[in-house]
Amino acid sequence: MSEKKGRFGEHGGQYIPETLMNAVIELEEAYNRFKDDPEFNSELTKLFNDYAGRPSRLYYAEKMTKDLGGAKIYLKREDLNHTGSHKINNVLGQALLAKKMGKKRLIAETGAGQHGVATATAAALMGMECVVFMGEEDTKRQALNVYRMRLLGSQVIPVKTGTATLKDAVSEAMREWTRRIDDTHYCLGSVMGPHPFPTIVRDFQSVISKEIKAQMLEAEGRLPDAVIACVGGGSNAMGSFYNFIEDSKVRLIGCEAAGRGIDTFETAATIATGRSGIFHGMKSYFCQDKYGQIAPVYSISAGLDYPGIGPEHAWLHDTKRAEYIPVTDEEAVCAFEYLSKTEGIIPAIESAHAVSAAMKIAKEYTPENSIVITISGRGDKDCAAIARYRGEDIHE
Ligand SMILES: *Cc1c(COP(=O)(O)O)cnc(C)c1O
Repeated sequence: MSEKKGRFGEHGGQYIPETLMNAVIELEEAYNRFKDDPEFNSELTKLFNDYAGRPSRLYYAEKMTKDLGGAKIYLKREDLNHTGSHKINNVLGQALLAKKMGKKRLIAETGAGQHGVATATAAALMGMECVVFMGEEDTKRQALNVYRMRLLGSQVIPVKTGTATLKDAVSEAMREWTRRIDDTHYCLGSVMGPHPFPTIVRDFQSVISKEIKAQMLEAEGRLPDAVIACVGGGSNAMGSFYNFIEDSKVRLIGCEAAGRGIDTFETAATIATGRSGIFHGMKSYFCQDKYGQIAPVYSISAGLDYPGIGPEHAWLHDTKRAEYIPVTDEEAVCAFEYLSKTEGIIPAIESAHAVSAAMKIAKEYTPENSIVITISGRGDKDCAAIARYRGEDIHE
């Protein structure tokens, strides 16, 4: 194998304890065996189409287009997928792969709860045992999703270490995997962690850009001028970007959570404020304190509240192929309200970060141009928190 294996420029790699090495090698070998296997792919396509509801719609947002006065705005509706976000694409792929590997148990980390719910769903469908690790803070912010996972037959373990958020849930899931690699697959939820996860997750999510490309050619007879997606670990964005990387005229824009602002300590904008480092098995950019320790991060959105970014994004940033812009809580909440009122679509607060960037950028273009915004999930889960943010006290 070449030295470049699992690397995106200088980023990526496999910085893991020896005890995990066998699990990761077993996973890589299995993935290489099945990724081009026609039977595996036809089973996955059937799950995507019959179960998850793919292909997801590409919707022309006519009112928003007229209101903003610039590029035509299209919305890639991952919020319409079964379980309400793009997470199901990756989970169905990994669960099917785990099954082929003879694994009987799935473990996962979750932030907003979307990946946990998606994993619990796939486990229920495929008759597998499932354990989800979730920061205790997040179990409070997303209580309804905790109930959903339990309803689906999964066990949810609140993680109390560190800041009791997503990064701690990832660490705990990795520890659990080393304890039980024989019968357990770690279903990682984003394009991060040690190789081969960033590649596997990106490949399963790349169905998003494959569909956008075909749908845009059908609707406009040309490629979009820009594709915009929010970035936590970066899976919906990588999936939205991947099939456009070679199309150099298509602008790729990732939106990071700036929280209360990139000049405050309450932010999760990794590209804007982070430095190169090694964490969770990968080399990439991370928010760090002056000692190089992982800094506590903050965003109103639990799904973007992660101190790192997937290694392929770090590389797309280094090579300037993609742009990364910070979007604050306030801007995201305004976009959440705007899309709800303008198009009757309540986006996830994560996706609202991408909507906000599009609202700013649209005017740089004319109606001959078009912008695709990936709506990574639906916003029902966020309504109570946004109401509270606006000072309304509603009971869930
Ligand atoms: C998890 C999640 C995200 C962030 O994860 P990525 O890996 O960056 O895509 C964004 N939007 C929604 C709706 C999510 O559930």
